[in-house]
Amino acid sequence: MPETKLKVVLLKSTPDPEETVSHAAKLCYSSATIDELKEKIESNDQRKFIEKLITIGHASPFEHVSFTFGVEGISRACSHQLVRHRLASYSQQSQRYVRADGNEENAEFNYIVPDSVKQAGKQEWFADRMKEMQAWYNELVNSIEGGGEKANEDARFLLPNAVETKIIISMNARELLHFFTIRCCKRAQWEIREMAVEMLRLAKTEAPTIFANAGPGCVKGGCAEGKMSCGKHDEVRKFFREM
Ligand SMILES: Cc1cc2nc3c(=O)[nH]c(=O)nc-3n(C[C@H](O)[C@H](O)[C@H](O)COP(=O)(O)OP(=O)(O)OC[C@H]3O[C@@H](n4cnc5c(N)ncnc54)[C@H](O)[C@@H]3O)c2cc1C
Repeated sequence: MPETKLKVVLLKSTPDPEETVSHAAKLCYSSATIDELKEKIESNDQRKFIEKLITIGHASPFEHVSFTFGVEGISRACSHQLVRHRLASYSQQSQRYVRADGNEENAEFNYIVPDSVKQAGKQEWFADRMKEMQAWYNELVNSIEGGGEKANEDARFLLPNAVETKIIISMNARELLHFFTIRCCKRAQWEIREMAVEMLRLAKTEAPTIFANAGPGCVKGGCAEGKMSCGKHDEVRKFFREM
């Protein structure tokens, strides 16, 4: 079945992220040596200290810990928005080296179907359009002289925004907190929001204090969206605080 669904995996993260952030921050305020600080941090309450850093906006210590996610089942429409976040590293499946049918005979490219398409009763119609595009793509790939990467490179101009992509993302915790603020908000597009919420859920398992109040602006305070506000602050706050 070429329709595919979102999958987010936390591949790696800095070990003991909250200890690392505390260590980096304490260094700024202490005359102690690095070894002495490490001992103190291990025995002290990191939670209160990290909460304080977040409150006062001392954000740079959060850059010392990073999280690497593997994501499948997102559209190119989603990944295009994602890579606008510049303070991150990405490795994305190539449309030059990987043919848009997985190199299998009679296979079709995977794609994402928005819920609105299903609700409009257009799922079959949508699937037929994807099949048509696959046929155009195959025809072009087989017509371009030389074939292989060169043909893939140019035939992809016919592929839709719905086509599935896979990507590995690394972000430090400071950037993640920012990313969650704008992409977990109901104002963000539904697909990147779903992905961001899943990333937050996974990041929280490794660093519950760092991400305790992560999420849209209204989780931490007031909504910054003005007239565009969803007006559902209580519901949104509850969801992110309890997740
Ligand atoms: C609801 C919504 C609608 C959007 N609509 C559009 C749209 O219509 N068109 C469009 O083009 N984009 C749109 N965007 C994308 C948006 O403009 C940003 O490009 C994207 O969200 C990346 O965020 P960021 O700039 O904070 O980048 P990040 O790379 O995540 O940067 C993090 C922070 O670092 C700082 N920073 C990074 N680079 C620079 C720099 N060069 N100079 C100064 N400070 C920097 C900024 O403080 C920035 O917030 C939309 C985003 C959202 C959430």
